[in-house]
This record gives sequence, C-alpha cells and structure tokens, in this order.
Amino acid sequence: KKLPLDPSEEQGVRQVKGACFSRVTPQPLTKPRFVAVSHQALALLGLDGEEVVNDPLGPEYLSGSKVMLGSEPAAHCYCGHQFGQFAGQLGDGAACYLGEVKVPGRWEIQVKGAGLTPYSRQADGRKVLRSSIREFLCSEAMFFLGVPTTRAGSVVTSDSRVIRDVYYNGHARHERCSVVLRIAPTFIRFGSFEIFKPADEFTGRQGPSYGRDEIRGQMIDYVIEMFYPEIQQNYPDRVERNVAFFREVVLRTARLVAQWQCVGFCHGVLNTDNMSILGLTLDYGPYGFMDRFDPDFICNASDNSGRYSYQAQPAICRWNLVKLAEALAPELPPDRAEAVLEEYLDLYNRFYLENMRKKLGLLKKEDPEDEIMITKLLQTMHNTGGLFCDSVKKATDLLIEIITVMFCICSELAMLLSMAQSNPTLFQMISDRATIARQLERLSKLKDLMETTQEELKTKQAEDWTSWITQYRKRLARELEGQSDVQAVQEERVRVMDSTNPRVILRNYIAQNAIEAAENGDFSEVQRVLKVLENAEGERDEGEEQQQEAATSMARNPVPYDSKPPAWAHEICVT
Ligand code: AMP
Ligand code: MG
Ligand code: MG
Repeated sequence: KKLPLDPSEEQGVRQVKGACFSRVTPQPLTKPRFVAVSHQALALLGLDGEEVVNDPLGPEYLSGSKVMLGSEPAAHCYCGHQFGQFAGQLGDGAACYLGEVKVPGRWEIQVKGAGLTPYSRQADGRKVLRSSIREFLCSEAMFFLGVPTTRAGSVVTSDSRVIRDVYYNGHARHERCSVVLRIAPTFIRFGSFEIFKPADEFTGRQGPSYGRDEIRGQMIDYVIEMFYPEIQQNYPDRVERNVAFFREVVLRTARLVAQWQCVGFCHGVLNTDNMSILGLTLDYGPYGFMDRFDPDFICNASDNSGRYSYQAQPAICRWNLVKLAEALAPELPPDRAEAVLEEYLDLYNRFYLENMRKKLGLLKKEDPEDEIMITKLLQTMHNTGGLFCDSVKKATDLLIEIITVMFCICSELAMLLSMAQSNPTLFQMISDRATIARQLERLSKLKDLMETTQEELKTKQAEDWTSWITQYRKRLARELEGQSDVQAVQEERVRVMDSTNPRVILRNYIAQNAIEAAENGDFSEVQRVLKVLENAEGERDEGEEQQQEAATSMARNPVPYDSKPPAWAHEICVT
C-alpha cells in the first residue's frame, strides 16, 4: 500500500504502514569474494560448500549481488523496545530476506549487509568485515555448543566501501562492505508483533489502523501453523491455541537464556526486536563470552547502565516476554499471559540447574543443595578470579587440557592447583576430580610447572576453595552410592562433562585475531577458527596440531585458542 510520506518524517525515513514486508532489491557488491563458508550450514540448503566455493558465481549469489531465480527479496518491518523504551518502527535496515529454501527442510535465507531498505533510517544498510566475521563465527560457534541459534552459511567481502569511523587515527576509515548469509527457520521476532500496537503508540500520531488487527491475526496464524504445527493441531480453540503458543515461546526463551548463562554468553543488545519467536539466539552484535566469571559483566561498550549485563539476562528476557504478551493482546488475553509468565522463573531455574549439574558431572541424583553449591562455586570463582601470576598462567595452559572447566574459565581452577601444591590433601582431592578427566597422568606435570604462589593467596579465598572442593567431592561420592557399576558412572560423567564444558569458546580475542588477518587480506584464520569451533566439544586431543600451527602462523600475538586470553584482550571494545 503506497502512502505519501509524512512531512514530519525525516528524509529517507518512512513509516511503512499496513505491511509486514516491503519488496527490496539487494545492492550488488563490487568484486564479491568469499572470506569463509560454513559447509555444515550450507548443507542445510542442499548446497555443497566445495562446489559453492569453486563457483565464480558463488559469492555473487550468496551476497545478494545476484538474485536467484524465483527469489523475491524483501525487508521485514518490525518494531521494538530498545533499552527499555518503545522505539517505534525499526525493521530490516541492513538485512534482506531472499526467500525460503525447501530441501526437504524449510529454511529462510537472508543476506545481511545488502544495502538500503525502507527501514535503514539514517544508516547505509551495509555491514563491514568486522561485524560480519563476528556474526558468522558466533552463529556457527553457538550451534556447535548446542545453543539454539540462527546459522551463517557464508561471509563475503568486496571492493565496495563504506565509511564507518570518521575519526579513526585522525582520518576517515573506509571499510569493505561484507555480507553474511543467514539461515533460520524464520527470523520473525518479538518485535514483529509490536508493529500491531495501536496507531498512537506506534507512530506517535492518531490515525486509522491500516488493517493492523487483521494482519496481526494473519501473522499469529502464520507463525503457529508454520513453526508450531503441533499446537495448531492440538488446540481447535483460537484463544487456547494462542495461550499454548505463548507458553511454548516462554519455555524456549527460558531454556535459551539458561544455556547462555551456562556458557558465559552475553548477548549485548537484548531489545525485543532481537528476540526470536522460535527461541533462537538472534542478531550477533557486541556479544561477548566472559573471560572470567563476573556477574556484572557487560559486553556492549555502549550499555552504560548495564541493562544487558550477564546476570541481568534472565530477567531481561522475561521483561521482553511481557512486551510480547502486550503485543499479542487481545489475541492473547492478558490474564492468561500473566499466568503463563508466572511459570518463567521456575522454568529458567530448572533448565539452568539441569545444565549446571551436567557441567559438574552430577547425573544420578538431584540434591536440593546443588543450587547452593553452584552459587558458592560461582561466588568463589568471582572472588578469586583476579589473582594471577605467571606460574599460574603456565599451569593454566596445561590445566585446561586436563580438566573441563566451568565456562572454560581456567584461572580459578589453576589456582586450586597452585594451592594444592602446598597442601597434599587438597592435591589429592583435585586428583580425584581429575581422574574423571581423561589425561590424569598429565596432572603430575603440573607439579614441575608450578612455583609456590602461596603469598599471593589470601587465606580467606583459599579457605573458600577448600570448603567448596570438600563439598563437591562429597557430592561426587554420593553420586556413586548404590551404583553397581561405578566405572560406568564415572565414564558417563567424563563424557557428559566433556560435552557440556566446551574446550574452546569464541572469545573476543580469537575473533579479533581472525578479523585483523582478514582485514589484511588473509582469510585463512577465519576458516581455521571455524574448524576449531566445530570441534570444540570433540576429542580433547583432536585438532591440537592444527591449533598449534594456527597459533604460530597468526598475525598478532599468537595465542592458542583454549588458553587464557592475552593481555590485549581487555582492550577490545565492541559496541
Ligand atoms: P540492532 O541493534 O543490530 O538490532 O539494530 C537495530 C536496528 O538498526 C534494526 O532495525 C537494524 O535493521 C538497524 N540497522 C543496524 N545496522 C544497520 C545498518 N548498517 N544500516 C541500516 N540499518 C541498520
Ligand atoms: Mg537487530
Ligand atoms: Mg544487529
């Protein structure tokens, strides 16, 4: 529906009413070329990565520079609450929907960074190499960690350029336009429903509803029929169906955020327009994995208030669900929504505890004290994480191969071992813990590596650790009570711990290394990081050689992927 622009609307910005999608044409890139492809993600589309890479038209099509036959590109119109405020119309400002691929699954594909759309507002609809590599790598990393996420098939860069940082080193910084091919069952988000808010709230003006009630109904029907078919089938009553749908979204969101918390992932921009209606991790911007445990961790440098800090995420996701419920009214009666929302916290806690128990190898029994024990572990990690010295660092590098580490944070456990050095009983306890990991014999090597760090350890902290380990050890022993095949239980424990405590996570410095190499024309590091992430939960020894080779060939301060972050990691700033 074509409507005249409101004179009060700034040039180039328009309110697109009565529609959820606008037809757009992706803007071609000059000399598009692949930086990297994810063979596994492309396989979802029935594409052979090797063939795609070798096809001169591969980067053209996968960047939207050429439009595939039958594709009708579109930009989605959505709204959102940004940092707690209703922000009105946002929409796909840089992303462009290319269509669905049915192979025999059904996937929506998008190019992100494909140029201007009616929703670009003051921006240019482009993305640069930095942000594209970060989105590409993390989409795939999350998938391999078992966290629900949108996927990324490829990242393409080009000779087209945009200016991003006008004051960079005193002159404008021209960066290469780059495009990520995104893949998901759908990119519909909470914000997709917020465009149906009443006219005055939506645009700040009174006016006709432009059929928003009808379109909201269609959108709800579409999402449920397409992505929640069991609900569509089982609930003939429309209201009951909508309540069941909302309950499922609440459940998936609670499960998702619990998984984030357990791998130390911080999204950074948890606005309602970045919340997937399928409970997927959506929109990788200034995300970050915690380098050491800190509940107040903020990954987004422009999040001054810490609204989206690590520990705020579960509550923020609930807040976003409240906004979704408001947007679904009156199709979703508010009192029913409220009742469903009451379930959120319990669901979240259940998923979180389930996951944490796996990380700690507690599989056979559920102890009501587990929650306290986990909280105590995190507190102790937080309190002692700041203590570092060189010998601990050296020990750490070896240690993480031996022990699967909570959030992959090795400093704390390294310290355990350094305390153990001067405390034979403690050392014995940790050895017990380590027997459940595979490479026990390597533990003894630590003794040689470590110097006494006793003077650095505050007694209180040492006590905290000692008491936690004692508690944990007892708890592990209780797991074995009444088990006929103790060895089988221990083996299962190793397996589960290995698969829930990733060996490598995509820390900022790892992405940064790959970005800097790519900006200098060397794309090999991006592909190598992807390979390592694909195996992050695999055999501990696998890919070690590959990593060593990678670590030594890297441009900036070579570091292995699974070590403690280098000093310069703290300087990385993402907004
Ligand atoms: P985000 O914070 O990434 O979720 O983005 C918020 C809004 O800004 C969304 O509507 C995006 O589509 C839009 N946006 C982000 N980057 C760009 C860009 N480079 N050009 C145009 N719009 C953008
Ligand atoms: Mg977004
Ligand atoms: Mg974004």
